[in-house]
Amino acid sequence: MTKMTRRQFIGQTALAAGALNATSLIDEGAAAGRVAPMMVSTWRHGKPANEAALEVLRTGGSPLDAVEQGIWVTEADARESSVGIGGIPNADGAVQLDACIMEGPGHGAGSVAALEDILHPISVARRVMEQTPHVMLVGDGARKFALEQGFEQVELLTEERRRAWLAWSEQNAREKAENPRFSHDTVALLVLGANGDLAGGCSTSGWGYKLPGRVGDSPIIGSGLYVDNEVGAAGATGTGENVMRYCGSFMVVEYMRQGLHPRDACIETIRRIASKDPLGFNLDIHFIALDKRGRQGAAGCSTRFDYSVTTETSSEVLQGAGTELLQRTVP
Ligand code: ASP
Repeated sequence: MTKMTRRQFIGQTALAAGALNATSLIDEGAAAGRVAPMMVSTWRHGKPANEAALEVLRTGGSPLDAVEQGIWVTEADARESSVGIGGIPNADGAVQLDACIMEGPGHGAGSVAALEDILHPISVARRVMEQTPHVMLVGDGARKFALEQGFEQVELLTEERRRAWLAWSEQNAREKAENPRFSHDTVALLVLGANGDLAGGCSTSGWGYKLPGRVGDSPIIGSGLYVDNEVGAAGATGTGENVMRYCGSFMVVEYMRQGLHPRDACIETIRRIASKDPLGFNLDIHFIALDKRGRQGAAGCSTRFDYSVTTETSSEVLQGAGTELLQRTVP
């Protein structure tokens, strides 16, 4: 028999025990207690955001600063069609952005929804948290607040997206109904600082060609994002309607509170939602999670869900647990 590497051994024993723990080298680091700081974000587009967040921590910033400035990277990338500038507009051709931010210590939270003309909705969400007695501002009110706070007015609709939207709007109603534009993805970024404090943020342009005023899960505390400094943090991406009806990210954190590994917490949340939802495992929902001990994990209702994990010594794109694992019975 060939000799097993330590990594293969961990993978096989975990499977034999029915455990679903991630076998990433990063998780091995967690077991050895060398984890913080750690950044976990949705999709491979989260990797540059993670790396920017790490730089913020290295230069003395807080986990909250790291979340905000990490997310700036994705929001400012015009090639990214689902976040910030260059995001797919709504049915009227307006780019409406949703974002929220949450800090572990103090349990502060801020959020904006259906915000137009502002490059960094994550920063407006932070101002809502820090400068107002409120948690959430929406639409014109959020835009007015941002301008009063000194944010610049920016054209978020790029020429490429405008042309695509025009082509879409010229289709007749029946064609649109038969081919709904279902393009969306979000950046959710979770940060564990070296001192053990957590923070998280989430930013998106939401469902492409959505009804004007539609708000998804991303800016809703407990749905698109949740942070509990005693336990861990979780974030979501996918069809917001199917996350927000179940308070998905809150549920992931609650499963971690009960002792589940972050990946198992994501899996259990999806299983529970799938058991209630008419779409079952055909839902398009995905979660990432990071616990206080620096263990991380992710799961989604498809094999296409990748996510990014960064520490001081590595930065990786990993595969979230997919439908196969979700449907397997855990003894
Ligand atoms: N959850 C986002 C929304 O529904 C989109 C996504 O993450 O794909 O607006």
